Amino acid sequence: MSRFLRPEYGTLVPYVPGEQPKGREYIKLNTNESPFPPHPDVVKAAKEAAQGLNLYCDPDNAALTKVMADYYGVDSGCVLMTNGSDEILNFAFVAFCHAKCPALFPDVTYGFYPVFADINRVPYETIPVNDDMSINPEDYYGAGKTIFIANPNAPTGIFLERDRIEEIIKRNPDNVVVVDEAYIDFGGESCVPLTKEYDNLLVTQTFSKSRSMAGARLGMGIANEKIIQDLNTVKFSLNPYNVNSMTGAAGIAAMKNSGYYEQNCRVIIENRDYATRQLRKLGFEVNNSLANFVFAKHKSISGEDIYLKLREKGVLVRHFTPDKIKDYNRISIGTRDQMEALIRALEEITEETK
Ligand code: PMP
Repeated sequence: MSRFLRPEYGTLVPYVPGEQPKGREYIKLNTNESPFPPHPDVVKAAKEAAQGLNLYCDPDNAALTKVMADYYGVDSGCVLMTNGSDEILNFAFVAFCHAKCPALFPDVTYGFYPVFADINRVPYETIPVNDDMSINPEDYYGAGKTIFIANPNAPTGIFLERDRIEEIIKRNPDNVVVVDEAYIDFGGESCVPLTKEYDNLLVTQTFSKSRSMAGARLGMGIANEKIIQDLNTVKFSLNPYNVNSMTGAAGIAAMKNSGYYEQNCRVIIENRDYATRQLRKLGFEVNNSLANFVFAKHKSISGEDIYLKLREKGVLVRHFTPDKIKDYNRISIGTRDQMEALIRALEEITEETK
């Protein structure tokens, strides 16, 4: 730490992204990326856009915003495109959380939420999830705080039905409820249609998972126009050119090829069902996930051992250290070949540790 750092940042614990390994080739199941490449039109669009990199990109991202608004059947003023969905989540902490209105989220959820709260110097509170890792919607009624719910939740993969989320939104009419739908395209039902009815709902989504564009950094928020105006005030105060020209063009091309991505999601869902069945046969407890990952705990081998032994065998999964989830590993769903390789490695591990 230099002697120049703002004193209150001295204790800041940053978010730790999943490892992007260099050197050895791993079967990479640790960061919930898509195993499928972007559609060829996406690559072509990004290349073409690169010709114009001498100019700034459109700060309003008007073309892509219109495509997304049409796709979701909302007005363009209800959509804001961002640099990954992490950016819009941070904007929401900046815009809607403060000393008198702390952030509130489950104790087992996306690890970036507390970091966003800390860097913005806003207080936050957490509510414990149930023993089965599910969320009790009633715990969030009348909270008087800005609520963040990942749905499906991460790293558990558990989905909360839309009418139960709607109840949380209804019971907090004077507070913003942010529904983080990073993993919604793998079987869940989106809350986007509710944004027309409730002026306190912000839904965030991403191109990183179902649309194979994690490296391009593209996310979005959908909400009532006034919420989007507030978030635009934050965006234009921090980073007006937040979505670069190549990413913007790639996003439009991806939306023109929705069928390709929908088919990939169907394959991921099939592979998730296959992996869940096989893991259970090997003695793992596995949540019913509606995301592109599963959260699994073995009946006798520790979460850390599974993680380390898989790593030795060339398979990377994500292990978290907080006490409540240290027995688990989060395993991204890849191709059928990758899932079969994972299961073979786990068969060996469970055999070796008998
Ligand atoms: N929300 C959740 C729950 C996530 O797991 C992630 C991925 N790490 C994100 C948001 C952010 O994804 P991105 O910034 O790539 O859109």
